[in-house]
Amino acid sequence: MLSLLRRITQEVTAAQSLSAALDIIVRRVRRAMRAEVCSIYLVDTNTSDYVLMATRGLNADVAGSVSLKSDEGLVSLVGRRAEPVNLEDAHIHPSFHYLKGTGEERYRSFLGVPIIHHRQVLGVLVVQHEDKRRFDEGEEAFLITLSAQLAGVIAHAEATGAITNLNANAIPNGADFRYKGVPGSSGVAIGRGVVVFPPADLDVIPDRHSTDSDQEIQDFYQALDAVRHDIRRASNRISQHLSEDEKALFDVYLKILDDNSIAGEIVRKIKEGNWAQGALRQVIQAHISQFNRMDDPYLRERASDLRDLGRRILSHLQEKAPNIAERFSEPSIIIGEELTASMLGEIPIDKIKGLVSVMGSGNSHVAILARAMGIPTVMGALDLPYAQLDKVNLIVDGYLGKIFTYPSDALIENYQQIVDEERLLEEEYETLRDLPCETLDGHRLSLFVNTGLSADIARSLDRGAEGIGLYRTEVPFMVRDRFPTEAEQVVIYRQQLEGFAPAPVTVRTLDIGGDKALPYFPINEANPFLGWRGIRVTLDHLEIFMAQIRAMIKASADLHNLKIMLPMISNVAEVEEALALIRRGYAEVKEEGYDVKMPQVGVMIEIPAAVYQVKELAELVDFLSVGSNDLTQYLLAVDRNNPRVADLYNSFHPSVLRALYSIVDQVKDEGVGLSVCGEMAGDPMGAILLMAMGYDVLSMSSTSLPKVKAVIRNITLAQAQYMLSEVMKLSHAEAVTQTMTRLMREANIERLIRPSKTTNVA
Ligand code: PEP
Ligand code: MG
Repeated sequence: MLSLLRRITQEVTAAQSLSAALDIIVRRVRRAMRAEVCSIYLVDTNTSDYVLMATRGLNADVAGSVSLKSDEGLVSLVGRRAEPVNLEDAHIHPSFHYLKGTGEERYRSFLGVPIIHHRQVLGVLVVQHEDKRRFDEGEEAFLITLSAQLAGVIAHAEATGAITNLNANAIPNGADFRYKGVPGSSGVAIGRGVVVFPPADLDVIPDRHSTDSDQEIQDFYQALDAVRHDIRRASNRISQHLSEDEKALFDVYLKILDDNSIAGEIVRKIKEGNWAQGALRQVIQAHISQFNRMDDPYLRERASDLRDLGRRILSHLQEKAPNIAERFSEPSIIIGEELTASMLGEIPIDKIKGLVSVMGSGNSHVAILARAMGIPTVMGALDLPYAQLDKVNLIVDGYLGKIFTYPSDALIENYQQIVDEERLLEEEYETLRDLPCETLDGHRLSLFVNTGLSADIARSLDRGAEGIGLYRTEVPFMVRDRFPTEAEQVVIYRQQLEGFAPAPVTVRTLDIGGDKALPYFPINEANPFLGWRGIRVTLDHLEIFMAQIRAMIKASADLHNLKIMLPMISNVAEVEEALALIRRGYAEVKEEGYDVKMPQVGVMIEIPAAVYQVKELAELVDFLSVGSNDLTQYLLAVDRNNPRVADLYNSFHPSVLRALYSIVDQVKDEGVGLSVCGEMAGDPMGAILLMAMGYDVLSMSSTSLPKVKAVIRNITLAQAQYMLSEVMKLSHAEAVTQTMTRLMREANIERLIRPSKTTNVA
């Protein structure tokens, strides 16, 4: 059963279009269940009707042209209930509705199961028999399981179905295809897509329309020759250790590469317009899925040979690929299946107009970096046919988390107005640079910045930052191919410390793990966010920790503005151990003759356990900084990186607000510095609430800083406290944001946050 399910799912996943996918489903299900009829009805999102899309057993000629109203027939009953309906005799059921032209009148027994994706009923899968007999429990369970597995595939095929044609020129601009993700960084980008992908990974290679097929074919043949050569060499090298049978395996490899076989197919695909790498992926994937469907385990194993060959050819082709500078000749919208911070590091910043990542969510580190750089970004666009978007015109709406492909002139004009309005808002913000962040009734709040790149320094100073509240040292570690030496680190940290002196600079020790992987220090774990991360890694690697501590302290020589912050603290022992090491590092540096002072040391409060021990922690350190990003993730048990649960990740959840409030309450008399450096501090709504709770320092991206300042300067502390008291009564996160939106509108500060048109478009 399991292998049958797997095979059907694999076949459907590999289908080239929605109609092909649906056709495979009805054909395979009818056979697997020995049913006389199998049909799929999909909901038309405009009319809510159930359209018969594919069938085996009913009259296939009417597929696509007949439908049931949303309150008509058994099919819609399944959809409305979002539950299976299993009937011995459908005709006597009050909801039965005969659909003319289908030839359905002969069939009495009926089993319909809903196809549900992300809580939404996409359609109904139906099997029918002539006899009056109930489908048994096993059959019902099989259909439910299959439908649950296929829902995601169907949703994806539906969303991408419109752009299955490789040749971008065949799709008219103006089609306005729309895809949904989650907001990653606000703002709007209008431009052309460039698809990026990690090297040597066949599965992520995008399709790309080639301009010079002859050249692509030539490159492909060269790569093929190189692989043949590699295989022959390998075969010769070990031939004396192999039997004749085993040696024959190498011949099989060489045969697969034969012109009459796979190579010929790849060349045909290139001639049809795809570039060599895309054609290679298409053909290899199609063959792999064929092998995977075979019952014979020996033949199924051949799939891995093919994958291996595919990778070898790819790596030779990629040696010939144009370098970064050639690919990014003009500012573009960068698209990837899983954009990472290190990928961003490879692209010149002035060439990035917008970002779109299929995986990840608004709290992924790449989104945080994008916000710091002010790049409009959409994350978690799961249904986006990203592989087909190279050189395609796009609009990225980072406010609403939407992407439009092939936009019409009208839509471009609409969005251009938002871009223009954004520019005006920016100009208004500039006038605030040197003004204090003070409420109308004279309450002073300090606005610090979060940094990571050296480019952040100038940008932050330009926007009136009063210090650095969080310098993420993992960022410079990510863009290298080995750990930086102590001396290299001194130079990197000195830039930040010098740039801001005499203002304080809070340097956080390395917080790798979770979604922040170093390419040269892979950590493979089933649960990375609950695993070896932050202080846990560095305390286990003293050589890394001590080099970093010494480098920070050396970098602060003569400046004396360093603060050291420890991430991911979950118990007191970690702080005690780290403090002892910091003191040791300080003594060593001092002994070397540097003019340094013992830095202030603080911890991040970002794990629920730390919230409950905040007083004990406060006694040990000079300051506390709340990491609302991780605190939200761990309090709500929602992976900050997973688009499937992005809707549940909400820092305005009443539990998060209560935890934040309780922290201030517990330490207000302890004389310890208290700030927030998570993304919530940079959200004007969050900033108002945090200020009202009693946080005096908020640290955020330089992009958010003027926005927050504009809002704070236009309300009173009393108003903010009233808003806080109103939302603390609420029990739903959505109610909190709705209430805050209303109160901010009433206070006339909502207009300072985003262009007015953003709520009206699309
Ligand atoms: C946080 O968790 O809120 C935080 C500021 O740290 P990071 O986002 O780097 O995990
Ligand atoms: Mg964190």
